[in-house]
This record gives sequence, structure tokens and C-alpha cells, in this order.
Amino acid sequence: MKCPSCQATLTESAASCPSCGFAYERIGEAFGRMPTLKGELSDMVGILSPRQAGKIRTEIKRFAREFPQLQFHAFLTSVSSDHPISTYAFWLFNGSGMCSHLQKGGLNFHTLLVIDVEHGRSNLSVGYGIEPFVADDDLRRALEAGQEALQAKDYGQAVVAIIEMIREVYHEKSARIPQTFGMRPKTRDDSAAF
Ligand SMILES: [Zn+2]
Repeated sequence: MKCPSCQATLTESAASCPSCGFAYERIGEAFGRMPTLKGELSDMVGILSPRQAGKIRTEIKRFAREFPQLQFHAFLTSVSSDHPISTYAFWLFNGSGMCSHLQKGGLNFHTLLVIDVEHGRSNLSVGYGIEPFVADDDLRRALEAGQEALQAKDYGQAVVAIIEMIREVYHEKSARIPQTFGMRPKTRDDSAAF
């Protein structure tokens, strides 16, 4: 995760940012009570029609089928324009109880999409288990896929487009994982040798 104030890379156990001193425990003072996530899709502002919500759930199911080890959450809300949406997302990601204590650190494979419907803003946060494989540009690319629909206030389509793109990004990244670790993809000849 990155510090929501200065974007420095953080370790999970730090209570404040080693670079700028930003105290994470105090973020909540700005946002009030921590909302309760309602499964994979939380529409806190009740803006989605049942049909739109259904389309999003179908898309999240597809994500879960293709990446059974990862979890995706979409969260639609209204965030005060006094705060960057990244700060809100950081607070929600770390405080909502979305991940149990067993999934901390490298075992956190969550992806959280936050949509601020009031100001047309969006944010993607990923857990420590995904972070080594995904760059900020990749997350930006996924968010951009939903930008047009977001501007048109078609929140259902915005979320669907972002999930489609994040699936594409994760497929690209997972295909490159063997290279990242200096491994050759296994070939038929390799298996014949054993
Ligand atoms: Zn900082």
C-alpha cells in the first residue's frame, strides 16, 4: 500500500507513515463510522438498478472463476470532496474488516474498487499479495476503462468496464509471472525428462 498523503510505500505494521508522519489511525476522524461491506458489491447510495447490480455480480462471478484465489469488491458511495478518494479507499480497505487477520500481509489478495458517485471519482486498491505484480499504471488503465461511463453517470457500466479491464490486466500479469521469477514456462520436453 501507498501512504494516502505522500504516496510513499508502506509496511503493513506501521501506525504512521515513515516518510511524512501521516497517522493512519486518525483518518477515520474525517470519515466517521466505518461502513459495513455487503459482500462483493456494496451500493451504499442505492444508485444501481437491480439490473445493473445483476450485471456487476455476473462480472464479479466471472472474475472469481478466472482468479479463484483473488477476491473482488465493488463499493459505491459518496465521498466528501475535501478528501482525495485514495485516502477514503485506504481507510476502507484497511478498516472495513474485509480481510480477516489470517489474510494480512502477503496473504491479502483483495481488490477493492471504490466509486464516488457524487464527484465521479474512482479508485482501485490491491492487497499486499497482489501489489508486487501490479503497477500504478495498470490500476490507472483499469480505472480509465470506466471513465466514460462514469462521466455519463452510468455507474453499472462503469463498474463492469473496470472489472473487465482489471481481469485483462491480471491475465497479462499472471502470464508473465514465470519470467518475473526467472523461470521458463514448462514445455512438453521438460516433463518428458522426469
Ligand atoms: Zn506519507
